[in-house]
Amino acid sequence: ATEVGRDFIRDIIQADLDQGKYREIVTRFPPEPNGYLHIGHAKSIALNFGIAQEFPGRCHLRFDDTNPVKEEQEYIDSIQADVHWLGFDWGKNLFFASDYFDRLYEWAEKLIRDGLAYVDDQTQEQIRLARGTLTEPGKDSPFRDRSVDENLDLFRRMKAGEFPNGARVLRAKIDMSSGNINLRDPVLYRILHAHHPRTGTKWSIYPSYDYAHGQSDAIEGITHSICTLEFEDHRPLYDWFIEKLPVPSKPHQYEMARLNLTYTLLSKRVLTQLVRDGHVAGWDDPRMPTVAGMRRRGVPPAALREFVKRIGVAKANSVVDVGMLEFCIREELNRTSQRRMGVLRPLKVVIENYPEGQTEELEAINHPDDPSAGTRKITFGRELYIEQDDFMENPPKKFFRLSPGNEVRLRYAYFVKCTGVIKNDAGEVVELRCTYDPATKGGNAPDGRKVKATMHWLPAATSVPAEIRIYNQLFSNPSPDASNFAADLNPQSLEILSDARIEASVAESNSTEPMQFERQGYFVRDKDSTPGKPVFSRTIGLRDTFAK
Ligand code: ATP
Ligand code: MG
Ligand code: MG
Repeated sequence: ATEVGRDFIRDIIQADLDQGKYREIVTRFPPEPNGYLHIGHAKSIALNFGIAQEFPGRCHLRFDDTNPVKEEQEYIDSIQADVHWLGFDWGKNLFFASDYFDRLYEWAEKLIRDGLAYVDDQTQEQIRLARGTLTEPGKDSPFRDRSVDENLDLFRRMKAGEFPNGARVLRAKIDMSSGNINLRDPVLYRILHAHHPRTGTKWSIYPSYDYAHGQSDAIEGITHSICTLEFEDHRPLYDWFIEKLPVPSKPHQYEMARLNLTYTLLSKRVLTQLVRDGHVAGWDDPRMPTVAGMRRRGVPPAALREFVKRIGVAKANSVVDVGMLEFCIREELNRTSQRRMGVLRPLKVVIENYPEGQTEELEAINHPDDPSAGTRKITFGRELYIEQDDFMENPPKKFFRLSPGNEVRLRYAYFVKCTGVIKNDAGEVVELRCTYDPATKGGNAPDGRKVKATMHWLPAATSVPAEIRIYNQLFSNPSPDASNFAADLNPQSLEILSDARIEASVAESNSTEPMQFERQGYFVRDKDSTPGKPVFSRTIGLRDTFAK
């Protein structure tokens, strides 16, 4: 294995290899296609595919498509696109649990013949009530002792579509007084007259997750079946099926902690509702914790891979600070993204001593730590825009940016000094008058005098209007309530700045690479851009701003 952070799962795999238990390690990522992938799935993807890269072996992508009511082709497609975007590849190993429906059905008949399964006519509610609790044993179903022949007959008629939804189920016959509720005769098949994206109307019964999952693992020769902690209590059932059925291999289930993040809900139920109820603009809304949302927001896949590597794989659940994710995004973008200038809230500046009609090209560097990123030209002229926040008419003591009489540096350009303020009828500052010092070209004064602030700016004539979208946390509560999440939504999660300006080269480029707007953060072109109006989303702000 190559050098990566060790964790208990990789330790188990290494030990299994050392003992010669397996020649090849086979893992799988088994999404249910009932929604888009989120960052919790990214953890599972990086673990399962990562293991296949580090050890001799492979990782399957298997769609756990056993519940046609909630599953859609759109989700199947998006999941494949997202796994690829994250940087992982299943090669030829693409599978669907529905491919195994025939075999699963035959094995269910075998369980019936072996006296290990029965058809129950009770309602879902009756079954639930008779299941008991942690402290109270369950009660046997009145249908538990049906003969094999009657069970086979009823099960075949369930399959043939003779009965309505919910009329009957097939249950394993295990132990209604087991200390583990999952072993109290779990449901294997339910009647569902529903169209399946892959098997169409062939089936009127569908297997439960518990019944389908381990057997699918066994059919595919999965060696290490990794799931999240809430399935720990299902493992005895997983093992029970593997023991009772003539499966071609014997996989083992291992459980790890789910990823939980502050200010974030990672449940597909909640994410689906956010989309359906219009709280967000879709599964790829940049505020969503989905892989598609993060991609649209400009989060590099390498940042997600680094994040899941840093959080590691633990046996106990915890909540990770979303700041850790933001840190990884900033680190990656700081390293990789080119610098540009954008003015979010423009304030016009007229340089009074700069000749009218004249302009000049100044050189700006594209990346301070990477000379190979090169330089670009920015046009300086008499009329410019600066950021409204960078000017105060009556500044407090520690305000070093522009104010009447104060001198600052304009990035890559000159020192300028504010000489006058123009206001509208409402008394708001709408324009500044400044002078520049031609001797300070490039940003330094020959007489050695210093300024305390360096500000970004744009030329009025050649910069381009743009809409800039600033995203904040979708929830204002650090631990949002999944059962009443609407109450925890952050009303300020999206701020739209419709009068922003950006460099012309940025507007003209169709690049979807994120870039840094100096002093403002990282931004990416959004798909809502139109030829007349580019739209940029802020991926994330800068933690440190220079010379403020
Ligand atoms: P949800 O609970 O949000 O509906 P799920 O677990 O039902 O998600 P699946 O499509 O069944 O979603 O998950 C596919 C794989 O991703 C499973 O192996 C599951 O354990 C894993 N997974 C899902 N959510 C997380 C998470 N938050 N952290 C780590 N792994 C996760
Ligand atoms: Mg699931
Ligand atoms: Mg789940």
